[in-house]
Amino acid sequence: MKISNDIIEDIRRANDIVDVVAPYVQLKKRGKNFIGLCPFHSEKTPSFTVSAEKQMYHCFGCGKGGNVFTFLMEVERLTFPEAVRSLASRAGITIPSDTTETTQTHDKRERLYALCAFAAEWFYKNLTTTKEGNFALTYCVQRGLQNRTIQDYGIGYSPKGWETFVNYAVSKGYSADELVNAGLARRREDGSLYDYFRGRLMFPIMSPNGKFIGFGARKLYDDDQIEGKYINSPETIIYNKSQTLYGLYQAKDAIRKEDAVLLVEGYMDLLALTQAGFLNVVASSGTALTEEQLALLSRYTHNLYLVYDADAAGSSATVRGIDLALEKNYQVHVVSLPNNEDPDSFVRTYGANEFREHLKNALPWIDFKAQELFNSPSAQSPDGKALAIRLLIQTIAKIPDELRQNMYIKEIAEKYKVYESILFQELEQHKKKGQREKFSSGRTAKKIAPKQSNEQVQSRLPSTIQPLSAEERDLLKVMLEGNPEVIEFVLSHIEIDNFTNPGARTLVELIQQHYEEYEGNLSHALLEMELDPNIKNLLSELMLARYTLSHGWQEMEIEIDEANPFLLARDAVVAFHRRLIKQQIELNKEALKEATLVGESATPFLQRQQELLQQLKRIESPDYLKLEP
Ligand SMILES: [Zn+2]
Repeated sequence: MKISNDIIEDIRRANDIVDVVAPYVQLKKRGKNFIGLCPFHSEKTPSFTVSAEKQMYHCFGCGKGGNVFTFLMEVERLTFPEAVRSLASRAGITIPSDTTETTQTHDKRERLYALCAFAAEWFYKNLTTTKEGNFALTYCVQRGLQNRTIQDYGIGYSPKGWETFVNYAVSKGYSADELVNAGLARRREDGSLYDYFRGRLMFPIMSPNGKFIGFGARKLYDDDQIEGKYINSPETIIYNKSQTLYGLYQAKDAIRKEDAVLLVEGYMDLLALTQAGFLNVVASSGTALTEEQLALLSRYTHNLYLVYDADAAGSSATVRGIDLALEKNYQVHVVSLPNNEDPDSFVRTYGANEFREHLKNALPWIDFKAQELFNSPSAQSPDGKALAIRLLIQTIAKIPDELRQNMYIKEIAEKYKVYESILFQELEQHKKKGQREKFSSGRTAKKIAPKQSNEQVQSRLPSTIQPLSAEERDLLKVMLEGNPEVIEFVLSHIEIDNFTNPGARTLVELIQQHYEEYEGNLSHALLEMELDPNIKNLLSELMLARYTLSHGWQEMEIEIDEANPFLLARDAVVAFHRRLIKQQIELNKEALKEATLVGESATPFLQRQQELLQQLKRIESPDYLKLEP
């Protein structure tokens, strides 16, 4: 038994989409709708549109769209039942206890959270209370970790034995599958389990809302056969590396308060800075900075301080981070530490005040990048200098804000004695190129195969790549907004196969299947089904796009929303028929041309031409499909 449709409907109505979106997107009122910068792709001018009236959103830039549930699913990476539950609790609605299917994934995730918390506690106890853990504890003390930090961050120790944790967890009721799925155990060929983390210092990794989701583990023994100094939990259904930042849960209040975040590379860097009183620190442990991590941080601040080792590897990671952060409209500073110092060694050697000085003197990204570029030996020739400037501009082109772009261009012109006009020219070229790349990558992204269910309907996808004709669009809109009588009227006057856009055809089929069941609620009901995302995006686009107004409506001073739905439907059907006939006329003309070329008789084609023109005339007469008054 699923959560009943009525309850889903109640939950949807109780959560205004504008309120749900607002924490993630700065919305501005524009006419009837709200607009803002899309949280799903990076853009300079807002094309993300939210309609309070229709309770839907759609991005006219990347094409994503849906309702409150799909929004939360996308932005928080939730499953549908999880999104429903989250919005239910937001609105104070209790979902009658339901077992099975829908709760299963939820329960599965909850079990893994619980298992990771259970493991974290056990690792912590091993570090702080066991004889074997004492070695690791001594190491912590040597590295300058205070008891308070060990407690706050739940640092622990995984014993050297092969099955110590596995045996304990199984004795406490966790299943083999759960242990493997949480990334805490692995299976041998004979099916038996062994501990994934053995003899390592454990750093529990938490989700932004404080759930244990995985672990980082540092090597402690020379005879550890595993290569890496640090290893991390594998990705699991609750741990996605590119969406996780170490320490964010503990740091988020400080980040908000300071309106700035310090980004470091390692666990120890973060802990050392925290102990030195810098609380707004997160670590990108284990991965290069990702777009998702930046999107996550942007909920708290847009001021980013990259603190990295000054060695070559450090600065190239920094340079990559700069470009990504600029694309997401961050103000970026780089804190450079002297050679061979990482944040951990630096504060331990020089102390907190010295670090604060470095933070104060952090270089704006442009100066840092210029320094990197112009200091390289190849930048000493005129050609080398030109290349360096070009690379700087390449980065500037990624900033979504044009005003900021202009300021930077002026700065470079002044500093390096180059004409502004040349720099602007260069900038324009990079911007164009960037757009082309974005466009082509967007297209490939959309081609990713659909996930699940409704196989027969989805086999014709992807759909949104092929543009929808204005006539198809209006017909679909009319049906999605209309009552069952309107839908019946349309369905009785068209053939589904006459839709040329496959996505449109799929939608008409879905409408036909479901319009009676979901009267008045059809579009939302469709959004809540397990359909290909392309179909959902098309649906939200249709709901938020204006009518193309094929016929006569422009001249009439009628607000389209107030128009009689039957009149709209009739006009949409007429326009659809007219387009079909015109297409056939074109095809017939082609055929006629070919026939004359090969010396066949033209007569049948000319006859056909006459018939088609007659039909067109009929369609265009005011009496065609005339409705009863
Ligand atoms: Zn978008």
